[in-house]
Amino acid sequence: MSVSTLAVDQSVCAPLPVLGRDVTVPLVTGGEVTYAALDYAASAPALQRVWDDVAAYAPYYGSVHRGAGYLSQLSTDLFENARNTVADFLDCRDGDQVVFTRSTTDSLNLLAAALPADCRVFVFETEHHASLLPWRDADVTCLDAPRSPAEAVETLERALAAREPYGPALVCVTGASNVTGELWPVRELAAAAHAHGARIVLDAAQLAPHHPVSVTGLDVDWVAFSGHKLYAPFGSGVLAGRADWLREAEPYLAGGGASRRVSRRTDGGVDVEWHESAARHEAGSPNVIGAYAIASACKALTEAGFDTLVAREEYLVRKVREGLAEVPEVRVLSLFGDDAPRVGVLSFVVEGWNSSHFAAALSAEYGIGVRDGLFCAHPLVRTLLGSDPQAQGECGAPEAAPGEKSLNAIRVSFGAGT
Ligand code: PLP
Repeated sequence: MSVSTLAVDQSVCAPLPVLGRDVTVPLVTGGEVTYAALDYAASAPALQRVWDDVAAYAPYYGSVHRGAGYLSQLSTDLFENARNTVADFLDCRDGDQVVFTRSTTDSLNLLAAALPADCRVFVFETEHHASLLPWRDADVTCLDAPRSPAEAVETLERALAAREPYGPALVCVTGASNVTGELWPVRELAAAAHAHGARIVLDAAQLAPHHPVSVTGLDVDWVAFSGHKLYAPFGSGVLAGRADWLREAEPYLAGGGASRRVSRRTDGGVDVEWHESAARHEAGSPNVIGAYAIASACKALTEAGFDTLVAREEYLVRKVREGLAEVPEVRVLSLFGDDAPRVGVLSFVVEGWNSSHFAAALSAEYGIGVRDGLFCAHPLVRTLLGSDPQAQGECGAPEAAPGEKSLNAIRVSFGAGT
């Protein structure tokens, strides 16, 4: 099998400048090529604009919320303004909180730690592990993979109705799959959740870099995303949404910054009054560079315009699909059907090929960086591949003979810099 080059029309809306576009990598066959980054779903390259903003600020950074000096005041302002920028980017409601975290995983674990007592959780088996696993200590109902957006809503409706009456309840759902890139019917799922008295958190790790996310318009209660997938550096993320559960919960981490007043009791114990703002869950010195970088990315994407970004990605998805369709051994993975709308994320298997070997060959022989494996969504990928739920299919799976089912898949993903 040979790899051919897709001609991409650069006039179909130019991509945003990102770091690393000119990086060359060695090939096993000798020589070098310009690296083709097609693994945005794992971590997107930083936007040049984000890098420039951070570099311009770096000489001035200082402690946040903890210093009287000019640079500390400046950093505190930038950190708090970053919250406002993120709230605007997500079209939050008045009174919503924006908590800076380390990542989507961190955000969803924070919310899991803040669930009221006896909270029921409803989640599809198709979720990324970051949105599937944090609720394991709660009373979780894990729902079967739906085969259409309408079936997703019906499945959730049925599950919510079957378990009534209940007290607090939470639905956790992804906005765009990290495996198939398919868009989920978030607004309809939110309406179903609310109709049954449940709340909903949106895992927007894959949605926010590609599509506008409106907390108000989608009517979701919380949204989580990661900086490193939104063209900002690693180590920063966001949980934004309703303040009440967050304000009533014990702080995610105990420490300075989260506490308003601490005093020693006469019996030797320690009393503490926690903040009620987002700072309650941000104990310790915050990642001001990370928050600033996320805010810079939010501004850059807004200024570029999601209409433009979405049109370009749809064009690229079409081109990649056309290219893959020319190879009879390729099967593109899809839950909702071939024509389902998707972001720039697409997984496939190649009959007769071990996906890990295929991905390694793309890198070694062509300088193309993709991902192989089960993408931290083991139940979903096994469902899509029709493999045994117990099958071991991470990296290094045995080679599938012609006619045999693959145990893992290959993923290409792209975005604003492609
Ligand atoms: N949710 C989805 C849909 C993802 O694709 C990912 C990462 O791939 C995550 C959550 C977890 O993100 P992070 O690793 O930044 O915490």
